[in-house]
Amino acid sequence: MPTVFEMIINGDIPSKKVYEDDAVLAILDINPRAKGHTLVISKKVYPTISEAPEDLIAHMFSVVKKIDSAMRRNLMAEGTNVIINNSSASGQEIPHLHIHVIPRKSDDCLSFFPPVCRYEEGEIDRYRSLLEIK
Ligand code: AMP
Repeated sequence: MPTVFEMIINGDIPSKKVYEDDAVLAILDINPRAKGHTLVISKKVYPTISEAPEDLIAHMFSVVKKIDSAMRRNLMAEGTNVIINNSSASGQEIPHLHIHVIPRKSDDCLSFFPPVCRYEEGEIDRYRSLLEIK
């Protein structure tokens, strides 16, 4: 069963394209969290960032930068949120790698960060060593 993004890439269902090259398609999200909310989608299907090759990830972020510039220039965005949901546990609905780029204004009252949680005494050091990349 193809993902909805594969169907869009194959031209089987319509989309509002803002950018395309050999590796990437960028379209407007059909359920925008702010007007102009854009999805940068890899043309080849990788479920999450874990499976995707590094050169593709780097290329996708270079496209994110272009979208960020266009949002600042043409939508008068004062900032953007750049978000990837990886796997259903994170809220990913479509298992096909994509990056959300959401235009922001300082007074738009949106929030994309969960509330703060706290480390127990000494716990932050355990997390640092678990995540240290050598
Ligand atoms: P995620 O939860 O990260 O997998 O996000 C999937 C996103 O795809 C959601 O924000 C949806 O609104 C969006 N979406 C689903 N179907 C379409 C579609 N046909 N065209 C554009 N965006 C879509």
